[in-house]
Amino acid sequence: MPKPLVYRVQNHAARRLHHDFRLEIGVALKGWAITRGSSLVAGEHRLNVAVEDLVLDYIDFEGVIAMGYHGAVLMLLWDRATGEPDGDCAAALATGSAALTLQGEKLIGRWRLERMKSRLCEEHVSWLLVKSHDAARERGDLDILEEQPRSVLTGRTVKDIAATAA
Ligand code: MN
Repeated sequence: MPKPLVYRVQNHAARRLHHDFRLEIGVALKGWAITRGSSLVAGEHRLNVAVEDLVLDYIDFEGVIAMGYHGAVLMLLWDRATGEPDGDCAAALATGSAALTLQGEKLIGRWRLERMKSRLCEEHVSWLLVKSHDAARERGDLDILEEQPRSVLTGRTVKDIAATAA
């Protein structure tokens, strides 16, 4: 039985609000930025782009970090859980396809991470986060992002967190 992985989703308010999907691989949190956010809709493909690893110390970070010239970064801890990979997740990711089951507070069920074929000149590697046809929602159902926008850590919204930094 593979070792469960720590998994987090942070709502990251940058130029545009997006989700950072994070998985504990080895000693770091691997990350993917999901432009349109996570989805519970069966068969839905969400484009995500690999981003820099994060040290495990920041796993439950929520709040605002001043970034000097670049302004401030706001993070809301949107979901947390352990994920159960089908086998060795690091090895599966290296091959470009990994399946896992999440038991989050918001994201529950099975997903696949699929690496897209990329051109050599591309700076960032694109992946797809694909929701499996398990106990998922259907198209037209309420969007989990609209239904549950609050932090799993503090119950705050992005607006609440922004207000504390003002
Ligand atoms: Mn981000």
